[in-house]
Amino acid sequence: MSELLLECKDLSFSYHTPEGEIPVIRNMNFEIYKGEFVSIVGPSGCGKSTLLNLMTNMLTAEEGSVRMHGDSEQKNAFGYMLQQDHLFEWYDIWKNICIGPQINHCLTDECQEYLLDLLNRYGLTAFIHKKPSELSGGMRQRAAIIRTLAMKPELLFLDEPFSSLDYQNRLNAADDIGKIIRNEGKTAVLVTHDIGEAISLSSRILVLSKRPTTIKKEYNIPFRKLGLSPLEIRNEKEFGTYFNAIWKELNET
Ligand code: ADP
Ligand code: MG
Repeated sequence: MSELLLECKDLSFSYHTPEGEIPVIRNMNFEIYKGEFVSIVGPSGCGKSTLLNLMTNMLTAEEGSVRMHGDSEQKNAFGYMLQQDHLFEWYDIWKNICIGPQINHCLTDECQEYLLDLLNRYGLTAFIHKKPSELSGGMRQRAAIIRTLAMKPELLFLDEPFSSLDYQNRLNAADDIGKIIRNEGKTAVLVTHDIGEAISLSSRILVLSKRPTTIKKEYNIPFRKLGLSPLEIRNEKEFGTYFNAIWKELNET
């Protein structure tokens, strides 16, 4: 068994508003191991972003616990990638991806070489001095993940990072980001309501129920281990079998 990075135990959470209590997470238990790509799939509004915010300590559990283990306990152990890429429009791509190390006083020569190498390997060298608005949606997402990788996180959390893109760009961006995460040897947790995206990227999928949400079912997905790319996985015969099973799971009340 590979190294345990994150553990959620008996996790429950509600928002407290003037109108009353909104129970969102109900008694969740799961673990994330090094090298996994875990997708968390659930209906809109079920509590996926809330769960991610609990995992990254932006929210505090009411009951139960979230624990980071090993390397993932260190500062900058995780990186976050969101629906909006939050690139600064007034900076060029190079300045955008250097922001994390700059703020943390670790923009060393070695770090800059690492970033230049990432830009080169993922086709952005020619755009280094361009503003984000001059890049396509997919290129922006590649720049955003390189910015996230700049701090060398062990674990990446992705919250519906492709949902602002149209279908074609979305497929390509998911393919690119899946490859980058695999090549760089990172562990990833993706939340999405897109079943196809989850199957094409993940080694494991947790299917959530409606709010207050809990884990309804877990699937181990074999394709990623076979070294297939996300686009190739979509052409696999069993892709449809997993898709239908998860679809049914999500649409059962
Ligand atoms: P998802 O990401 O799955 O779409 P969220 O985690 O964003 O769902 O939200 C889960 C539920 O909690 C929704 O019903 C939402 O309206 C509610 N919610 C989210 N954030 C807050 C907040 N800050 N205060 C009160 N309710 C919230
Ligand atoms: Mg959300």
